[in-house]
Amino acid sequence: MMPGTRRPRRLAGLTLLLFAILAGGCGRDEPRQAYEAQFLALGTLVKVSLWGVDEDQGAAAVRAVEAELNRVHETWHAWRPSTLSDLNRRLATGETVTVDEETAAVLAEAQRLSRLSGGLFEPGIGALVRLWGFHSDDRPAGPPPADETTARLLAWRPRIIELEITHATEAEDTVWHLHSTNPALKIDLGGFAKGYAVDRAVERLRALGIGDAIVNAGGDLRAIGRHGERPWRIGIRDPRGEGIIAALETRGDESVFTSGNYERFFEYEGVRYHHILDPRTGHPARGTLSVTVIHADAATADAAATALFVAGPQDWRATARQMGVEQVMLIDSEMRIHVTPAMNRRLVFQSQPIPEVIVSAPD
Ligand code: ADP
Ligand code: MG
Repeated sequence: MMPGTRRPRRLAGLTLLLFAILAGGCGRDEPRQAYEAQFLALGTLVKVSLWGVDEDQGAAAVRAVEAELNRVHETWHAWRPSTLSDLNRRLATGETVTVDEETAAVLAEAQRLSRLSGGLFEPGIGALVRLWGFHSDDRPAGPPPADETTARLLAWRPRIIELEITHATEAEDTVWHLHSTNPALKIDLGGFAKGYAVDRAVERLRALGIGDAIVNAGGDLRAIGRHGERPWRIGIRDPRGEGIIAALETRGDESVFTSGNYERFFEYEGVRYHHILDPRTGHPARGTLSVTVIHADAATADAAATALFVAGPQDWRATARQMGVEQVMLIDSEMRIHVTPAMNRRLVFQSQPIPEVIVSAPD
């Protein structure tokens, strides 16, 4: 046999063996793909991505996330029978209602965020949201309510900060009581419950030992950890259509929430009426197409996105500072993009041509 023919064969064998070791190592410790699942919850498509889990762990974790999201959704549903609709009905009669610790804590957190937003995030305006037809499983259709009707409702000044939350010790247990003296106060956590639900779902994942994951509910998400050796990469929807306006890589643990005028709306006589209402006017907030907030927890990001949408292109910076959010992108109705410096450093714009970007710090 010619020496020249044996050498390459040995090399080839060695190369194959090395490849097998590398491939084996990758398969066990470093999968190349995230475990992914999607399902309908919170009235939207939810996608869960998990890194470093096998099929069984992944399936169990996704079931836990789904159960948690459904639990929060059913508790806080604004128009179907729920803990919240029962609460609203009883509070309106002046009754003092006993609730559990979690219910009281969620409402106290909503109050805190509402106060910080100067009442622009106002979960006390459920009656107004209903008046505009957004409390419905069907697509809202209009027409808009009469100005006198919205004015009469606003005259009651329903504000969540008026809700009295007290606690007492009964038979060695702490119980929480809620009371309202304003019959027009109807709580609607539509601007915040998704964030709260996503926070709880991520807590469940952590309890299962999962540190690398995304829980994405219709484009609003919390990401923890990484996608293996690289960060998670996500897209922010273009408010004009289905595409992505910008992409970003998440860092550690953070939430990215967007409020947009395209989520729920109806058109009436050529005018679009969307579901984010300005509690000062009783009408859909004007001047903004979408607001994206990046913040550690999802509940704050959700409430802040709603509040900054209402604040609008002129006033969003002051509200951002009061609410303690540093990473904001607001797209105004002229498609101008307003960003904080911290947000500007994160975004990689995808649409061509790149739209006009105005960078300014929170006031
Ligand atoms: P999205 O539907 O995109 O998640 P938001 O988080 O902004 O949007 O939530 C909008 C929902 O919040 C509305 O459907 C309504 O239930 C409620 N809402 C409307 N206006 C306000 C407001 N000013 N403050 C708090 N909640 C609001
Ligand atoms: Mg919101």
